[in-house]
Amino acid sequence: MPELPEVETVARSLAPLVCGRRVRHVRICDEKLADLPVRRLQRRTIRRVFRLGKQVLLELTTAAGNALWVGVHLRMTGRLLWLPSLPDGASAAAEMPHLRVLVSLDGGKDVSLQGGELAFQDTRRFGTMVVYDSLAAARPVGLDPTRDDFTVDALREQLGRGSGTQPLKTWLLRQDRLVGLGNIYASEILWHAGLRPTRGAGSLRRAQIERLWRATRDVLAAAIEACGTTFSDFQSAQGVSGSYQRTLRVYGREGEACVACGGDIERLVMAQRSTFFCRRCQR
Ligand SMILES: [Zn+2]
Repeated sequence: MPELPEVETVARSLAPLVCGRRVRHVRICDEKLADLPVRRLQRRTIRRVFRLGKQVLLELTTAAGNALWVGVHLRMTGRLLWLPSLPDGASAAAEMPHLRVLVSLDGGKDVSLQGGELAFQDTRRFGTMVVYDSLAAARPVGLDPTRDDFTVDALREQLGRGSGTQPLKTWLLRQDRLVGLGNIYASEILWHAGLRPTRGAGSLRRAQIERLWRATRDVLAAAIEACGTTFSDFQSAQGVSGSYQRTLRVYGREGEACVACGGDIERLVMAQRSTFFCRRCQR
């Protein structure tokens, strides 16, 4: 499941490839997405591609400047891939399996550039693609931990919202509190913060909240810098894999030595998810 850094990586790598290009037509290849209003997308130009929460958003405007947004949740196995047209003008997507939507784009302002297709490919079909008429409608409920309004005080306020004895690790996965964290980064953040995953989210003192805040910012920034963590199905729009997995301190390292203290990394299951931690470093 892609988490915030992977979605950010997809949006960043896709933006320079498709911005400025105009939609020629949209083909729905999966009946699950039959409700997508494809006619509304035609002849619009892609102005921006960015991440909002865990969605990749494409901002499309008409010639008159009216905007709408296409939001894509990649979920388990979704990918957004840019496929330039082949030299003879043929589609590079012809043989591609598990296609769900194919958006044909022109060459943009530069007439010498070839057009191509933006493919939404998704083996397990849990991903979604929806059209929003306003950005507000696409905005997630939880706080985005990469934004400036994610402050120590904002985190403290979120933790104070009836979190009580809910384990910290489980709390970090709540998308209605902080958006974009999944199993990998929640485990990593808690190691960097020196906090035990089982600890009650409502029990943190000020200094511990500050450590959690800093670890969240630092881990996400480093992961975005590394283009995310590569797991089985994640690739950026250019098919590039991330490298943060080399930086992982606890996730997937059960039985290995903690790089800080040499102790064993342990695994426990919380809310049906594996959690990795160091007993000595995380209290
Ligand atoms: Zn340790």
